[in-house]
Amino acid sequence: MATDYDAPRKSEDDNESIEALKERVPDKLSGSIIDAEDADNPGFELAGADLSDVELDVVVLPQQDDEFTCMNCFLVRHRSQMDHESDLGPICRECSV
Ligand SMILES: [Zn+2]
Repeated sequence: MATDYDAPRKSEDDNESIEALKERVPDKLSGSIIDAEDADNPGFELAGADLSDVELDVVVLPQQDDEFTCMNCFLVRHRSQMDHESDLGPICRECSV
């Protein structure tokens, strides 16, 4: 009797689970679409972070041995453009004119 009683219960459970899945499938699909959209947004944010790193690299220009920073205009110039060394540091030709 126990087996006969369990058999119909399993079928009923399966029917209920299938109906529940049919109702839940649309929700899962919509949820997956929303997740995909959310996944794209962090990608753009990461791209922005990469751009900020590039900007930092541009700001921090490594001064070469044949270059100097003018203490008047604070521009990195080639050594050939140096006019003279002041008390503060090198002064370029444009600033000394
Ligand atoms: Zn200068």
